[in-house]
Amino acid sequence: MSNLYHKDIYKFEEPVKSFWETTHQSNDKYEKLNKNIQTNIVIIGGGYTGFSCALSLAKNFNEDVVLVEAGHIGWGSSARNAGFCCIPPAKMSVEKMFKKYGKEETKKFFKNTIEGSNFTKNLINEYKIECDLTGDSNYEVAPHPAYFESIKKEASIYKNEFGIETEIFSKEEFNEIGHTGEEQFGAFSYKPGFAINPLKFLLGLAKQAKNAGVRIYQKSKVTKVEKKLNKFNVIVNDQIIAANKVVMATNGFYKDDLFPDLNNMILPVISNIIVTRPLTKDEIDSYNFVTYNPILNIRNLLFYYRLLKDNRFLFGARGDLIGSEKSSFEKSKEMEKQMKKVFPNWKNVKIDYYWRGLVAVTSKFTPSIGKLDDEIYYSFGYQANGVNTAPWSGNELAKLIVSNSKDLSISKFYQGLPKKFPFPKLRLLYLKLALIYYRLIDK
Ligand SMILES: Cc1cc2nc3c(=O)[nH]c(=O)nc-3n(C[C@H](O)[C@H](O)[C@H](O)COP(=O)(O)OP(=O)(O)OC[C@H]3O[C@@H](n4cnc5c(N)ncnc54)[C@H](O)[C@@H]3O)c2cc1C
Repeated sequence: MSNLYHKDIYKFEEPVKSFWETTHQSNDKYEKLNKNIQTNIVIIGGGYTGFSCALSLAKNFNEDVVLVEAGHIGWGSSARNAGFCCIPPAKMSVEKMFKKYGKEETKKFFKNTIEGSNFTKNLINEYKIECDLTGDSNYEVAPHPAYFESIKKEASIYKNEFGIETEIFSKEEFNEIGHTGEEQFGAFSYKPGFAINPLKFLLGLAKQAKNAGVRIYQKSKVTKVEKKLNKFNVIVNDQIIAANKVVMATNGFYKDDLFPDLNNMILPVISNIIVTRPLTKDEIDSYNFVTYNPILNIRNLLFYYRLLKDNRFLFGARGDLIGSEKSSFEKSKEMEKQMKKVFPNWKNVKIDYYWRGLVAVTSKFTPSIGKLDDEIYYSFGYQANGVNTAPWSGNELAKLIVSNSKDLSISKFYQGLPKKFPFPKLRLLYLKLALIYYRLIDK
């Protein structure tokens, strides 16, 4: 069992105190599993991956599906992220992608990522999921004049190599259509891009899965999976789910405790968010903050931020390396300082909410979708781009499950398992060294 982080971060029994938790009223009640049951396919994990896969299996392929979630429905990262639908789900420069996979494969990858954004948007439209969708593109902002050249280069590659709609803005132009501030030295936009209330989207997906016939159990953590004859016995709350196929949709919260073949494949990284009280018109005007698009400040240690529907300001950054409640609070204070350094006119603005969660990074720095030799399926490692990638991946996984093939017709970037992390107990040390290096470059 992984004990990379403090046990506080794995409190499945408690809702995270996010702003999103205060924004919804769900009447959907989900049971806790308290009896032995049988099914064809059991899905472990109730985030975007799990629910999108479940919905597709039940609705498009008429499959018998059970989904089990350790927390309540709306516990994991899908319920607590910043809601940015952005690309690409890779921690690698385009130059590196060209070198590693070749130009054509990289183009296919970007085509798939655009499909991912459209897939998420289409789910929202098709099922009329009210999730406070805002924005029509994403912005990437240069935090220093030296970054503007790389902004222009990225925009040009997106446009010329991948056919993505982009626009470049000088500092002065972005002052007019985006915002001013201490770390704004020009920007570019790309489409598609938008932001959502992640929890409302997740609850909407869960409801559709339920309507399609998926049996959903919350507060039902899988503690063991055994193979008996040709069936899996999935142990939950001392009960047994007998199933023919198992889907692992646990992403960053997997504790390396169920399938040896899937252990030590992710580096779970903490990501933190703070949300202010609603800003006044004067406060917003003081930076001419006129956009509700999601914005990425492209430091190596990224800041991401956006104005919410009620003019609260959401600000996110890479988190701490401990994972306790105390370290989460301390990190929120550090982020408050960082935010107020970028937007000093807001120095007296109170932070109303702070929380964090885990994102999953893999050693290949791209997601992994596929099947083990047995009837065990997996999808994980979205490199903090799950709004774009997880619903689409869940849907791709559903296709793989019902086909007799081992492969999908998607880019190789996504396919197969990453290499295990060497000396997995040292994963946090690797992360610490990377953070020190990036912090130095940012300075
Ligand atoms: C603070 C933060 C901000 C982020 N911001 C963004 C963003 O703006 N845009 C973006 O695209 N991505 C963002 N992400 C990443 C994004 O949230 C994830 O990539 C995405 O939600 C992954 O979806 P998932 O369904 O695979 O995993 P999750 O939503 O994490 O779901 C996995 C579920 O598995 C459950 N589980 C684990 N173990 C077991 C078990 N043994 N038995 C039963 N259930 C189990 C967990 O309880 C969890 O609910 C952010 C993440 C965080 C933490």
